[in-house]
Amino acid sequence: MSDNTKDNDNNETKNEEKKETVSEEKSEDKREEASESKKGKTKFTFKCTRCDKCCLSRGPIPITFWDLELWAKNGVVANFMPYLEIYTKPDGSFDLILKPLPPPKEGSETGAQEDPLKETPIEELLEEKCPLYNKDQKKCLIYDNRPLSCRTYPLEFDGKNFSVVDVECPGIGQEGMSKEELKNMRDTAKTMNYELTRIRIALPVLNQVVTRKIMMDLMKQQMETMSKLSEEDRKKLDEILGKSIKQEPNPV
Ligand code: SF4
Ligand code: SF4
Repeated sequence: MSDNTKDNDNNETKNEEKKETVSEEKSEDKREEASESKKGKTKFTFKCTRCDKCCLSRGPIPITFWDLELWAKNGVVANFMPYLEIYTKPDGSFDLILKPLPPPKEGSETGAQEDPLKETPIEELLEEKCPLYNKDQKKCLIYDNRPLSCRTYPLEFDGKNFSVVDVECPGIGQEGMSKEELKNMRDTAKTMNYELTRIRIALPVLNQVVTRKIMMDLMKQQMETMSKLSEEDRKKLDEILGKSIKQEPNPV
């Protein structure tokens, strides 16, 4: 067999494989459309109107490893640091979030709190403005690095079904969404679901490792401080500790 014939055969095989992949993707799209129309769901169409309504009331935004990797690659992690927080949810599980700034106090234009170290509970910030939205300029300050969650908003995927998390979003029902755009949005929602699962599995483990490291460092620091105390200071400390132990109320 000549080299040319071999090349032709190889190209044909590759083309066949390509066709198969494309046709598999098409039939997956069709299967999803068919199952949605079977369930009587209306076809989802969306075009963001850039009204920024969601940025003004998003509350805590879930962050994933996808976001952290993007920010590390683009060298912008420091921009997000002041707002990153681990949120312990009522069911005991953890989420890494971008925490909104507390709303301005009455009579204050800056929104600064009286006590800057005082934490505002997340539950009070569920509908507050994203910390990276600039109201005066009416824009996202980090648009190219915006979290995955913002890229798929308001569509969500729970591992089985897609759903709209904000039916008031003015982009829903807007005409002009191409099939390609719909597929991209669905793929982003699927990636978000996968990434959220991944970080929710990893966070409790990381949390324990970091907490243990901090505890060990604190214990080491305390032991070092104790070893540097003079005999006199140590006696005084023992007296203080002895008194405070005696004063503790008996357990009921
Ligand atoms: S996602 Fe919806 S609410 Fe947010 S900016 Fe776009 S149209 Fe407005
Ligand atoms: S990160 Fe940007 S796009 Fe996302 S909610 Fe904040 S301001 Fe809006």
